[in-house]
Amino acid sequence: MSESAIRRPRGTTDYFGFDEEVLLGLERLLMEESSLYGCKRVNPPVFEESRLFHRSVGESSDIVRKETFDLLSKGDKDYTLRPEFTAGVNRLVLENKLYALPDLPVRFSYMGKVFRYERPQSGRLREFYQYGVEFLDAKIDLDTSLDALLLSIEATKKALKKDVLVLINFLGSFQSRENYKKALADFFRPHLDEMCDDCKKRFETNPLRILDCKVEKDHELGKMAPRIEDYLSAEDKKEYDAIVSVLEELGVSYRKDDGLVRGLDYYTGLVWEIYDAEKPTSALGGGGKYSSLMKDIGGPEFEGIGFSLGIERLILDMTPERKKELSLTSPLDVFLLDFERSGKAIALAQKLRKEGLSVSLPSQQKGMGGCFKMADRLKARNVVIVFEDGHIELKDMESRNQKAVTEEELITLLRR
Ligand code: AMP
Repeated sequence: MSESAIRRPRGTTDYFGFDEEVLLGLERLLMEESSLYGCKRVNPPVFEESRLFHRSVGESSDIVRKETFDLLSKGDKDYTLRPEFTAGVNRLVLENKLYALPDLPVRFSYMGKVFRYERPQSGRLREFYQYGVEFLDAKIDLDTSLDALLLSIEATKKALKKDVLVLINFLGSFQSRENYKKALADFFRPHLDEMCDDCKKRFETNPLRILDCKVEKDHELGKMAPRIEDYLSAEDKKEYDAIVSVLEELGVSYRKDDGLVRGLDYYTGLVWEIYDAEKPTSALGGGGKYSSLMKDIGGPEFEGIGFSLGIERLILDMTPERKKELSLTSPLDVFLLDFERSGKAIALAQKLRKEGLSVSLPSQQKGMGGCFKMADRLKARNVVIVFEDGHIELKDMESRNQKAVTEEELITLLRR
């Protein structure tokens, strides 16, 4: 029996050609946007000690309960592929003592792959890219919170060239949240028998997350549950009102949604999700403020606020025109033909590359016609032919003019 072909694992993507160019263009745009907000890029490892995610993301979150890719133990430590960046960035700040820097908040951006063992479907992958930022400081104030929120909105709008809708909620300080959790537990307790299995577990670990449930019956029940606003302190309310009034002033289209709690356990204060304003079905990204993450992983009292956007969700939501604009159609300066293949052309190619010109060559098997068709497909600006007698001809692919040139003339003409 023949073995089956080796294929790409489910829920992953082979990026190449046009899709890779769109990805690169998007990465460049997002990094440029982050630098407008003073962010510096960080690149933590793709895998970390499993403890990091189990402690920080929260045992009750879906990510930890069923969605991590845990690596087979090879030594004395257990490792997990990162399911998100926030924990890794906080670990990086802690381990390198960046919290002790005089210049706070640290403003870090990132873009890279994350891994979640989910059931793959459109827009839900097992390996996908996230772009995002984390701002960290002893205390995250109103201005820093707004900066993070506004960056997430502007980055999404610029990436898509579309309007976005932002859903916001305010979970309050640790104490407000604990009081609210208690009130929710009291409310849901008499209904436990009717609720889905996931919610039964959430009831034990974090009743707030029941409000996230998509099961119709539980969702309806959640609508009748106590509202978070009634459990916020005066200080929390003041901060939430201030955020809202800045959004109003800037004309940001937002909607308050007090059922929004976000998947992870560690959020306190402002949380948000971003949607395409015209089809607000699945979230393009989300973020929030957190207060105890750094302490939970053994660090000092330090707060953070951050968000992440799902790159594949953004790409899925783009028009074909937008994708074309983003693809870095990095043009080829020279397509170099040498039918003798004696190495002469490579020496010339190296000279041209030293001049900063991009040069590529076809395979040996192609005839002249095939080479020119390939040059057109590659959108080469010029074709240079090295003939067997050593003379060189240059064809400008736009004007289609072709003429014999010396090597010096070639370099001068191409430099222009
Ligand atoms: P989260 O870290 O769960 O808040 O996710 C942030 C963003 O990442 C979401 O809004 C999605 O755009 C994206 N995302 C989350 N899970 C997946 C997935 N399984 N596949 C693709 N994108 C995802």
